[in-house]
Amino acid sequence: MDHMDPVYQGQIFSHALNIHKPWYITDIEFRREERRLDIWVDFERGARFACPDCNKEECHVHDTIEKEWRHLDFFQFQTYVHCRVPRVVCEKCRIRLIKVPWSRKSSGFTSMFEAMIVLMAGDMQVSQIGEKVQETDTRLWRIIKYYVKKAVKVWICPMLLQSVLMKPLKRKDISISQFLRIQTPVG
Ligand SMILES: [Zn+2]
Repeated sequence: MDHMDPVYQGQIFSHALNIHKPWYITDIEFRREERRLDIWVDFERGARFACPDCNKEECHVHDTIEKEWRHLDFFQFQTYVHCRVPRVVCEKCRIRLIKVPWSRKSSGFTSMFEAMIVLMAGDMQVSQIGEKVQETDTRLWRIIKYYVKKAVKVWICPMLLQSVLMKPLKRKDISISQFLRIQTPVG
């Protein structure tokens, strides 16, 4: 990969990360010894973004905050995305950190990494997933709980939902499908 055309590399990863204008990849670094791949993303100068709260379009950038997300491994390389995320000025909501297209708000993982964890959690114990992807159970449970909450809130009453979400911390050795079977009423 080190000898691949940088423009072609950029295209591959832009596609994999769903990066479109005004976002673009500025740098990609493979560190063979550390088995690590870092991808830096930036936005075009003068770009404007929608307010994440009220969706007002074309808000000016106020400043930026450096962030990092774990992405799906690229072969044996642990992959991380870095970006200075803009905070925009919205007339109504004042200064707000925008939502980036490759991750949900406040997550340290890309959406694709999270999707993989949720898929694996259907069949594997969270502790096993943790070993495989080299992440702590706590961080993985944070992902799983977020998606379980989204998936079940339409049909489980709020009190039961709360009990579902309280218990995984004590049940870290079960898979999410076992966990849902235990926690949800039959019928
Ligand atoms: Zn707003």
